[in-house]
Amino acid sequence: MPKTTNTHKKPSQRHTKKASKKPSKKHATHTKSTKRLATPPKPKKLSKKEQEVVIARERLLEETRRSAYLLENKSFTQHISNNVGMLAPQILRELAKNSKTDEEIASQLNIKVNDIRRSLNLMNGYSIVKYDVNKDNKGWLIFKWKINNEKLESYINKIESEMTKSSEPNLPGDCNDFFMCKKCYSDQKVILPFDTAFESGFNCESCGKPYTILNKEETVALFQQAAKQ
Ligand SMILES: [Zn+2]
Repeated sequence: MPKTTNTHKKPSQRHTKKASKKPSKKHATHTKSTKRLATPPKPKKLSKKEQEVVIARERLLEETRRSAYLLENKSFTQHISNNVGMLAPQILRELAKNSKTDEEIASQLNIKVNDIRRSLNLMNGYSIVKYDVNKDNKGWLIFKWKINNEKLESYINKIESEMTKSSEPNLPGDCNDFFMCKKCYSDQKVILPFDTAFESGFNCESCGKPYTILNKEETVALFQQAAKQ
């Protein structure tokens, strides 16, 4: 490669060649053009690096939108709250915005990092979240959590197909006592099995009020009512 100095740069030749040549506007014959109708219009030319950045950004945006859309599913929110705990939907909504460390989620939600870790690990067991591991500048491993949209979607599909199979909610068979917070139920539609309520000391994780106990029939009735809404 010959060396050039900045001061003596020749005018770039990029613009000169094509400018004079107008694109010919002759119409292709109809028979041959049909195949090309489906291809989208080409965007302006970007360098390979720029293209990669644009594609990565669009993909990320698309994934973000998809996560947000999936998390609107009420059956899923109910299901994950029952199985992982009431923090789960909040954590997922944080991760839907962008990937985060457990500590970032904890400070965002103002919740103890151990509780966040516990929920993340449980959700990792369902494969609906995953993490990337990187090293920071001190050599510490950094776990950035994000939503696994593919798994989340198939998980939701599974819940919904189970729901349509029977209107009877899928309650744990060995559990006869269920719990709800009367104050938060209308917003959160959360009913907890015994084990989950026990872990939180039978007090609501959102407002701190003691849970109300429900028998199985009352629980089924509430589930069916929620499913109709
Ligand atoms: Zn409450």
